[in-house]
Formats: sequence, structure tokens, C-alpha cells
Amino acid sequence: MKQPFLAAVPVLERLESAGFEAYFVGGSVRDYLLHKEINDVDIATSATPEEVKQIFDKTIDIGIEHGTLLVLYQNHSYEITTFRNEAEYEDFRRPKEVTFIRSLTEDLQRRDFTMNAIAMNKDGNLIDPFQGQLSIRNQVIQTVGKAADRFQEDALRMMRAVRFVSQLSFTIEEETLNALKNLVYLLENIAVERKQMEFEKLLSGANRKQAIQLILQTNIYIYLPGLAKHGESLKLLLEYKLDKLNKRELWALLLFCLKIEKTKIEGFLRDWRIPLKEIREIQLILYYLNKRLETSWSHYDLYAATKDIFISSERLYLVINGIEGNESIKEYVEMYDGLPIKERSEMDLTGTDLMDWFNKSGGPWVKELLFKVEQAILEGRVDNNKRIIKEWLMKCKHN
Ligand code: ATP
Ligand code: MG
Repeated sequence: MKQPFLAAVPVLERLESAGFEAYFVGGSVRDYLLHKEINDVDIATSATPEEVKQIFDKTIDIGIEHGTLLVLYQNHSYEITTFRNEAEYEDFRRPKEVTFIRSLTEDLQRRDFTMNAIAMNKDGNLIDPFQGQLSIRNQVIQTVGKAADRFQEDALRMMRAVRFVSQLSFTIEEETLNALKNLVYLLENIAVERKQMEFEKLLSGANRKQAIQLILQTNIYIYLPGLAKHGESLKLLLEYKLDKLNKRELWALLLFCLKIEKTKIEGFLRDWRIPLKEIREIQLILYYLNKRLETSWSHYDLYAATKDIFISSERLYLVINGIEGNESIKEYVEMYDGLPIKERSEMDLTGTDLMDWFNKSGGPWVKELLFKVEQAILEGRVDNNKRIIKEWLMKCKHN
């Protein structure tokens, strides 16, 4: 075994010495077997949440009705979930009622795919009743039990299958894929927040092209916010090299491909439940991308866009034009770093200065003149120095 499991072994030991079973489960065991980087170590236990709370000093309730607690242990946090089954399902999304159980096998049985239904004990021994290791060896995504039943219980699993195609470059096993094609309409019932998480992971996976093709072929896209009428435009995404793009840039490129009108962008992203702060950033990236597609960056636009945004817009410009490398980004960053000011507050001039100098009361003229000086400073036509700005303004006035 290796880190981060090793650090978590004492957590299992504590649960065991209190008389319970405890195992590593889920994505971390799968990724470990795949020699991939491991994110969060999840733990499953026969102890109920109340019992877990008695064993550890610091716990946080994060989904206690589903049996999940966050345990803080030696500067790490672990999600500890009580063995449970989800026998009855309501409207294809949520288990009607979660029953805590004492059997690991039953807990593994309620998990979505065989590769995600492997447990590992503190000695590194695997408990794999559904041949998850075989699936991993064969690189296939296969439901635990009958695919049609499992997708009817929770339709999100269909999107999860495709997101794993993107992340792991596995293929979906035949029966699982057939059930997916037949039951895709059940995605209608799934909360957008859950779809969003899977979609963002799908867009960020190394094998995303294959995954995008799959969401087209299986009609999943019809059940995703704002995409139903855009199958053809979605295909445009396949033409671009997406591997250097971050989440914000991927959303911006998606909107660019879909040719969503400027006034509809916010609504589109709100329908996906993207936080407003991110929506604003995506809008700016798109605004400057469109400008960039017409002309090169001016000093003023680099300044107004700010560093993060112009780098994102320039990166998309390169992707859209099929330009490899990032020479232009480096040049523009250099140009930006050399700007005399990075924000308006750094300007050696205020509205009050202007009102004093011109002996006039405030009004729109102040804002206009500040803007004019700001541009002149950025373009190097005047130094950012109050005295020099004043001289320059007086000279302009007489011309
Ligand atoms: P990631 O590396 O992206 O976190 P993961 O496999 O850990 O992938 P999570 O969403 O964190 O995915 O879920 C943790 C585990 O919980 C899964 O491995 C799986 O065993 C189980 N699981 C998650 N969602 C479902 C679901 N909708 N139906 C059944 N089991 C699920
Ligand atoms: Mg996980």
C-alpha cells in the first residue's frame, strides 16, 4: 500500500478496535489499482454515524441521512459512510429510504459500477465480489447487476458511465450501453446540479472527445440544459484540441461553438447552475475572445480584461486557430507586466484633482476625462505622475 492510504490506516484500525468493520472503497481503490493519482480516500464501515462520532473527536455532518460523516484525523479529512443499501427508489433519482446494514457485500452491491465496488482492508487485501478487478483489467465500465435496473434506480449513473469513459478511457460494456440507450430519457428526472458535476468532469477528462461523441450517439445531450437543439454545434467541439483548457475556458468554448447569443449566455449558464461569479468570468473570456478574433490585443484591453481573463481568451484564440505552443501568451504577459498601471486606483490622479484644476463641479465630464487619461497612461502618451498629467491636460486643452 502507499499514500494516501497509509496515512488513513489508523482510521480503519480505530474503527476495528471498537469492534466494527472498515474498508477503503470507491474511486480511491479503483484509481489505486489503475496506478492513477488518488484524490480522496473514502471509507465504508459497519459503524453507524452515531457510533463513528463516538470514536473520533472531530467529525462534521455532511450527509448524515445518507450515513456520511467527514472525519478529521491528523490534518486529513476522510468521508466515512456507513454500509447501507438503497432498496426502494422513487422517481428514478433518490433512494426512498436508506437502510444502514452491517454487511460489506450488500454495500458494494448498491454501488454503480463493478470497478467502483471493490473494497480494500487495512492490510491491502481486496474484497471484490463483483469482479471489479477483471473490469479494470479489461477496461470496461459495467454496472453491478442488471444495467436496466440500476439505471432505473438512479438515471445519473448513465452520465457517470460516460464521464468515466472520459476520465479513464474505458469502454462501456455492451449490456450496459444498450440499457443506457434505451433508458436515456430517464435523465429528465435528474437534478441539474448532479448533471453539472458529471458534465464538468466529462469535459475535463483526457478522453473527452470519445465521451462527447457518446453523449451525441446516445442522445444524452438532449437531456442536458440548453443543449437539446445543438447536437450539430456540439460536434464542433470535437475539432479542437481541448487538453490545455480549464473549466471556465471549456464552458466559454462550448458557448462559442453553440453560437449562443450574447444576451442569452447568462441564462444558459444559470440553467446549468453555474455560480454567478464564474458566469461573469466566462462572459468576459468570451467578450475578449470575440474581440481577439477581430484584432490583436491593445494595451488598454489587456489592462481592462486583467491577466487571468486575457490569458484564457488568448488560449482559446490559439485553440480555435489550431496554433500550438503559447508564444503569444508569453508575449502578451510580458506586455501586461510592463504596463504602467494595473488598475485605476494606481493612477496618480483623482476626480477631485480634475475638479480643482478646472475649477468646475462634478459631472459626467470627470469620468470621461479620467478614462481619457487612463488610456493615455496605458498607451505611454503620458507618465503616471500628477504634475505631468496636469501639464499634459493643460496643453491638450489649448490645442
Ligand atoms: P471520483 O474519482 O471522480 O471521485 P468516484 O468513483 O470516487 O470518482 P464519487 O462520485 O466520489 O465517484 O463516488 C464515490 C463512490 O460512491 C463511487 O466509486 C461509487 O462506488 C459510489 N457511487 C457514487 N455515485 C453513485 C451512484 N449514483 N450510484 C451508485 N453508486 C454511486
Ligand atoms: Mg470520489
